[in-house]
Amino acid sequence: MKVCRKCHAIHDGKKWVPDAELDKVTNNNVEYVLCEACKRKRDKVVYGIVYLEGPVLQDRRDEILKMIKKEEDIESRHNHLSRILSIDQNKNQMTITTINQWMALQLGKQFKKTFKGKLEISRDASGRRGRGTKGREEVVVRWKQAA
Ligand SMILES: [Zn+2]
Repeated sequence: MKVCRKCHAIHDGKKWVPDAELDKVTNNNVEYVLCEACKRKRDKVVYGIVYLEGPVLQDRRDEILKMIKKEEDIESRHNHLSRILSIDQNKNQMTITTINQWMALQLGKQFKKTFKGKLEISRDASGRRGRGTKGREEVVVRWKQAA
């Protein structure tokens, strides 16, 4: 069986699952590899970009970072690939990149739910510099706090 050498996720034959189930592993024939999530993180493969804008990002920064982290915890338990690659903040703007589309969509929805405002989702990756292999679709999520 395959175990990720970085995050210790285990491959159950179909998908990667968290290492919480590692004690169940009785098979001694373990192959250490890099799971898909760790590969995407290493290669900085972006499938989702979330642009956030509003004073709340500055005013309640710690709370918001906690919320983002919590969202990642919840989602990655359901899907090993629902992960955040990077978070950049500049005053009242924040940009988050994710390694799958779902994570980006969930973050956008969470901001809309918590702080209202305006949410826009597009599959158009134009405007992003240079990245993007052919055939790979990025989701772009924009959330803006209501004025
Ligand atoms: Zn891994």
